[in-house]
Amino acid sequence: MNKGLKQTVIDKGYCVGCGACAAMDEAAFEINKNKRGLMQAVSKSKEKEDTEAICPFAGTYDEDEIARDLYGGLAGIKHNQYEGDYLSHACGYVNDDELRLNSTSEDIITWIARSMLEKDMIDAVIHVKKSDDADKLYAYGISKTKKEVWEGAKSRYYPMEMSEALEYVKSHDLRYLFIGVPCFVKAVRLLQKKVPLFKKRITHTIGIVCGHYKSDFFAKAMGWEMGIHPDDLTAFRFRKKYMDKTANVYGVVAKGIDEEKEAVADDLFSCDWGEGFFKYQACDYCDDVVAETADVTLGDAWLDRYTDDPRGTNLVIVRHPLIRDLLDDATDELTLEPCSKADILHLQAAAFRHRRSGVSYRLHLKDKAGEWRPVKRVEPSDDLTKKRKAIYKQRILLREESFIGFEKALEANDFSIFETHLKPYLDEYHAIYRW
Ligand SMILES: Cc1cc2nc3c(=O)[nH]c(=O)nc-3n(C[C@H](O)[C@H](O)[C@H](O)COP(=O)(O)OP(=O)(O)OC[C@H]3O[C@@H](n4cnc5c(N)ncnc54)[C@H](O)[C@@H]3O)c2cc1C
Repeated sequence: MNKGLKQTVIDKGYCVGCGACAAMDEAAFEINKNKRGLMQAVSKSKEKEDTEAICPFAGTYDEDEIARDLYGGLAGIKHNQYEGDYLSHACGYVNDDELRLNSTSEDIITWIARSMLEKDMIDAVIHVKKSDDADKLYAYGISKTKKEVWEGAKSRYYPMEMSEALEYVKSHDLRYLFIGVPCFVKAVRLLQKKVPLFKKRITHTIGIVCGHYKSDFFAKAMGWEMGIHPDDLTAFRFRKKYMDKTANVYGVVAKGIDEEKEAVADDLFSCDWGEGFFKYQACDYCDDVVAETADVTLGDAWLDRYTDDPRGTNLVIVRHPLIRDLLDDATDELTLEPCSKADILHLQAAAFRHRRSGVSYRLHLKDKAGEWRPVKRVEPSDDLTKKRKAIYKQRILLREESFIGFEKALEANDFSIFETHLKPYLDEYHAIYRW
């Protein structure tokens, strides 16, 4: 008998708080932000038997199976184990500098969404925007005009949930484009298998390449480190382009009640993505880096040949023929250049390593401890070097200790406690790299 989501994904810490389970009719769950700043499903009534089928971390369907149903039969479809199914891939940018400079990378996500509205391919976009809720800086919302889509541009490395936006979809018969990180797109695909209304109304999806998802401690810690107390944080810009730097060197800007602070992201203790502070545990058990179930996926093309241009360049992986045609017909508006599979492997090498051999090793550790864990496309294994195993184990500790350290800092109202708490774990982590 299935154990249900509560006893597995939720209680064992694999919930990413996406909100798919809360969007079901007569939902047994709602999504709340917990004290660690993570969106999480919380039980509100008895769970129905088949709820696992719509959870991206329950392990019912994997990304290959979902993508095969969607794209497997298309003429010209190719497949490799990193990109999944795809029609083509390229690197490029939007030619209009005003658009390009407003975006995170080069604005192709926003360009696609605006173009689809303009060409009457969709009526509305489900994406992340500034929130009116005092407890959330950003949240999923609905945009119906090009202006609204433009205002929602830029990456928010911030916890989201989509159940409220999906309620809107249920009550408004429109054609929607959904934008999200890989597990959110997968959740939408699973919902579409279960609920015909979502299949009919969410007609297209855009995926975002994802290193990992963050708790709201990430913005709070960076803001505090720059001098804005977490209680006073009113907005956060996660990526500001600098015209005198390379594309992979960017700024972060925290807004307080009556002041604004800015720093180069790499200069902040709280902002090393490799150390994985404030990461959801679920992300350590995700083997989809490039949103393999989305019609098109966008990421940063931080290849040597592009990083000198601070305006930014996107990686684009196309799976849906209509999106391919839209991009192919836009030679006046977009510059797209060929890239190779080797370019993509090089670009995402660290992410693929952490999410293939890393997932495999973490599954092995869970099995050894006799704990429930989701079924993934990679098998459990400890066939790794001693150094790699030590790196992966230390990353698990860093994730957990980042939360503990920040909670202690909040309690004592002293940011320096966060740094002091993490220092021995970081020293050990860097020492392992010198082995
Ligand atoms: C959590 C996270 C981790 C990422 N990790 C990587 C990585 O490791 N490597 C990499 O190459 N790229 C990564 N990206 C993607 C990268 O930051 C850019 O988003 C991407 O290159 C698209 O840029 P753009 O200029 O085309 O997007 P824009 O035109 O700026 O549009 C971004 C769109 O995404 C929506 N959006 C913003 N934040 C979120 C969110 N949290 N969830 C859902 N939708 C959102 C916005 O509403 C907007 O519509 C990550 C993004 C996120 C949100």
